[in-house]
Amino acid sequence: MFAFVPAKKTTVKKTAVKKPVVKKVPKKVHDRGLEVLARLKVLYPEAICELTHENAFQLLSATILSAQCTDARVNMVTPALFAKYPDAESMAIADPRQVEVLVRSTGFYQTKAKNLIGMARGVVDRFGGEVPHEIEDLVTLPGVGRKTANVLRSVVFDLPGLAVDTHVGRLSRRLGLTVEEDPVKVEYELNAILPPAEWGGFSLRLILHGRRVCDAKKPRCFDCSLADICPSSELPRAAMPRSVGKRRKSVS
Ligand code: SF4
Repeated sequence: MFAFVPAKKTTVKKTAVKKPVVKKVPKKVHDRGLEVLARLKVLYPEAICELTHENAFQLLSATILSAQCTDARVNMVTPALFAKYPDAESMAIADPRQVEVLVRSTGFYQTKAKNLIGMARGVVDRFGGEVPHEIEDLVTLPGVGRKTANVLRSVVFDLPGLAVDTHVGRLSRRLGLTVEEDPVKVEYELNAILPPAEWGGFSLRLILHGRRVCDAKKPRCFDCSLADICPSSELPRAAMPRSVGKRRKSVS
């Protein structure tokens, strides 16, 4: 019989994140970033997180499950998972084998089950059952990295947080907003361009645009509203609408 013994208060050493040095952003890159932001807000008026959740614990769990897995697949398994383990307290005493069965189809299920239970125990033991909102606290939880922490901050807590996943990194480079490959450096460079209140929405909208238009292998530049300001556009200039060509002068 699996039993959870409440752990003694543990102290987890917070690892200070060394902030990368961000060079001064050239004006044309800054202007392009703000133009991309404005257009994405028109294209995707609602900045939505596609992981189904009702609270911070559920979004944290769903985000842990989304590693190397689609949001659609995660949304298929979380109803049963949250019905059985609706909060950190219940997940903290879960039998790992039962959690594994529920999350199996998301891949890497043994590690994910271990992280879900470890995260829940951390929330119960060290944060009184409430998911913390500071990045430095969130990243001390098993399975939670900076990207997940920023998703939590922006989507649930309405705090500045720009999550850099594969879509955000790829599109930011294609759009000439950064040349960095390291997600933390990309995050800091984008933060230097955008107002903090826009960080979360910008990330969510870039993810939507990456999924719907700017595919990793086959970007649909012919169907992209950013084509005239995107240095990576594969469209010949002559193929762009006249209005688009005019706007280009002001932002490129
Ligand atoms: S123009 Fe092409 S490469 Fe640039 S953002 Fe649009 S789809 Fe991606």
